[in-house]
Amino acid sequence: MSSTPAPRLPHGSSHEALLVLNAGSSSLKFSVYRLSEAENSAERGVSPRKLHLLASGVLEELGHAARFHVKDSHGHLLDELAWPEPAAAPGPGPLGHSGAIDFLTQWLREHNGGGLRLIGVGHRVVHGGVRYANPVLITPEVLAELQALSPLAPLHQPHNLLPIRLIEQRLPGLPQVACFDTAFHRTAPEVSQAFALPPSITRKGLRRYGFHGLSYEYIARALPAFDAHAATGKTVVMHLGNGASMCAIEAGQSVASSMGFTAVDGLMMGTRCGTLDPGVVLYLMDELKMDARAIERLLYKESGLLGVSGISSDMRALSESEDPRAQAAIELFVYRISRELGSLAAALGGLDAIVFTAGIGEHSVKIREAICKHAAWLGVELDSLANESGGPLISRLGSRCAAWVIPTNEELMIASHTLDLLQHPQESE
Ligand code: ADP
Repeated sequence: MSSTPAPRLPHGSSHEALLVLNAGSSSLKFSVYRLSEAENSAERGVSPRKLHLLASGVLEELGHAARFHVKDSHGHLLDELAWPEPAAAPGPGPLGHSGAIDFLTQWLREHNGGGLRLIGVGHRVVHGGVRYANPVLITPEVLAELQALSPLAPLHQPHNLLPIRLIEQRLPGLPQVACFDTAFHRTAPEVSQAFALPPSITRKGLRRYGFHGLSYEYIARALPAFDAHAATGKTVVMHLGNGASMCAIEAGQSVASSMGFTAVDGLMMGTRCGTLDPGVVLYLMDELKMDARAIERLLYKESGLLGVSGISSDMRALSESEDPRAQAAIELFVYRISRELGSLAAALGGLDAIVFTAGIGEHSVKIREAICKHAAWLGVELDSLANESGGPLISRLGSRCAAWVIPTNEELMIASHTLDLLQHPQESE
């Protein structure tokens, strides 16, 4: 293991802190927030406490050759470590999720100068089912219910829940909060959550849930500061990262999402195919003799930008490529978004603004330009110079539909929900 001597977390004197965790199959992303008192009465009216990001980082390649890095709020590297390939190392096996939690809690203890006191942990949990329309304080009963939802998101839910158990074992009694990717969409009308399937199937939980809800909730809360008109009106937000989806928001509430029962639906993504005729799955089974796991691999890991281009799942790499297959993948990505935009504008019955967010939405001038050009019929008039400089407003003044670039912050949303529930535990379900 190699280590760089690290400075302490820059928090000044003694403070309470929150930890935010986002656990995936082979990674554990984390952020640490310091709490302070609100400085004036206007701030106290919103919340008596303020959140300040101290550090964020990731433990990745868990179970293989794990790596760790952590940066401060300005993006400066605070510390990094690399574990050797397990085969090359005699002794203990590779660092897994359990070891990662041990490592992280110890790292925080060693680097906080003794002044930070962890008062709670907020977790990103992909599925809250029909019941959880809001974040919830974890109890053994809640955890059991969330565990029972695992079949609805088998690739994510078990990984999201594991750190909750590990922290309960290591730091018993520390309050933990689950924040759901599905929760924001529970306000959508029943008709937009329904599949055209018999009620006996729907009752088993087969419905459109929608995902990326923490990102959409953050944007919905931030939007009034950018566009008061759109914030009370009709907006489509495009969360375009490795995972990608779109959400129709009316007066701050979700009314429709491009994602459905699972996070493989809707847009074409880095490695996921997005919307597919269900007949394709039957054909893959009947004619190509693929079993469920092989189809899962194809639809989740081998499709999307990677599958179509055969080059990369990474939009930046494709944008820089001259290969016609890269251009074909980008063209399909933009086409699918443009069609979905029409569908969501129809669900809203009009459109006041579109918002670009997440890695591609926040950084790709070219993709934003292509989408805005396709959206001219909806009243979007692109301001090319503003787009090149990153906005936030990238439509011309007077454009019937405004276009914005607003960076998302799911971690802050989780921290903020966690703080709210610690302050008002009676509001937990
Ligand atoms: P995740 O869903 O894993 O959180 P991100 O929101 O970080 O992903 O988005 C990752 C995507 O954003 C990748 O496809 C990456 O190539 C793309 N991206 C980041 N910066 C740029 C850029 N300057 N131009 C084009 N694509 C970019």
